[in-house]
Amino acid sequence: MPKHKVYVTDECIACNACISVCEENFAMNDDNTKAKVKKSIISDKELAKNEEAKEICPVEAIKIEKVND
Ligand code: SF4
Repeated sequence: MPKHKVYVTDECIACNACISVCEENFAMNDDNTKAKVKKSIISDKELAKNEEAKEICPVEAIKIEKVND
C-alpha cells in the first residue's frame, strides 16, 4: 500500500488554516510559531484530508511526498 510523507517547512506563518481543515493531522507547536504534523507517514486513506490542508496553506509550507516501501 503506497504511503505518503507529510511535513511543514519553515515558511509556515502559523495561520492555523491547515488545522481548521485537518485537525486529525495538524497542530500548532508549543510556542504557537509553526504548525506541525501529528503523523508524518500517512496512508492513502488519510491523503485527501492532508491534501486539503496543503491546498489551503497560503504560503505552500505543507509538503506531501510519496514514499516507496
Ligand atoms: S496553513 Fe500553512 S502557514 Fe498556515 S499554519 Fe498551516 S502550514 Fe502554517
